[in-house]
Amino acid sequence: MSPTPTAFFRGEYVPLSDARVSITTHALHYGTGVFEGVRGNWNEEKGAIHIFRLREHYERMLRGCRLLMLDIPYSLEELCDITVELVERSGYSQDLYIRPLAYKSAEVVANLKLQELESDFCLVAVPFGSYLGTDVLRCCTSSWRRVDDAMMPARFKISGLYVNSILAKTEATLAGFDEAIILNQDGHVCEGSGENLFLVADGRIYTPPIEDNVLPGVTRDTVMQLARSELGLDVVEAHIDRSQIYVADECFLTGTAAHLTPVVEVDSRRIGDGSAGPVSSRLRDLYFDIVVGRNPKYIHWSTIATPRLVSV
Ligand code: PMP
Repeated sequence: MSPTPTAFFRGEYVPLSDARVSITTHALHYGTGVFEGVRGNWNEEKGAIHIFRLREHYERMLRGCRLLMLDIPYSLEELCDITVELVERSGYSQDLYIRPLAYKSAEVVANLKLQELESDFCLVAVPFGSYLGTDVLRCCTSSWRRVDDAMMPARFKISGLYVNSILAKTEATLAGFDEAIILNQDGHVCEGSGENLFLVADGRIYTPPIEDNVLPGVTRDTVMQLARSELGLDVVEAHIDRSQIYVADECFLTGTAAHLTPVVEVDSRRIGDGSAGPVSSRLRDLYFDIVVGRNPKYIHWSTIATPRLVSV
């Protein structure tokens, strides 16, 4: 039996093709959802999918649910269990992208009062390889600015918020770059369209603080921990000016989809010597071993799912 594209939808596991919503669904019109992007990494030796830091992803999603008044009937534990079950039922033995979505499922066309709208949760896992499609990145500074917390909080993965990222990513790629670097309202460096940003300078690692309207990335946290404990480096959360990137020794982006990817050029300036630097490379190697469950010290970050071939 081959893998079965499966969704968790309206409280049940169903074939993905049966998971459909009405065109009057609130979230479709207004972006009133909070989602997550989680990776399931295929470990060939163990014949299992290692889901990376699943709890932390759902903790972030549940924080976003509070903001958007999304009352979903599942606890953190239940969400983790549902995810493992979905991955096991889907039957894939390859790398996966797991996409949970809590959303305003009310079928109503003109109502802007969150408190009156019912919510639901759905989930799908799809095969997924490289997101950025390249090992090193050429970036440009976006002409779009990151939304500010006073407009729409950037610290949660709110569906509608992603129009901001999509405008920046589209602009950058149409101009021939791999990724956009977005500044915040104050003109400080914020992040990529779907990645957090780090610099290496003077033997230290720098990244913007959450208050600069960056998403508190799970990979960001992972890399900060690894840099401190495995490489013994100082990690400093501080405002970063655009010009600091141009003269940094190294720059890299982190994200669930993007992994840890070195940036070798920004706005037509070469960063460092124009190739992946030593700190980025060491962190990237550590990270890749950990996410696939090959480093026993960090195995607690893996939730293990064993695919079974079941028809739904
Ligand atoms: N910033 C933005 C805007 C993102 O969409 C993402 C991807 N979720 C990240 C940063 C990185 O977050 P994480 O490491 O949790 O995937």
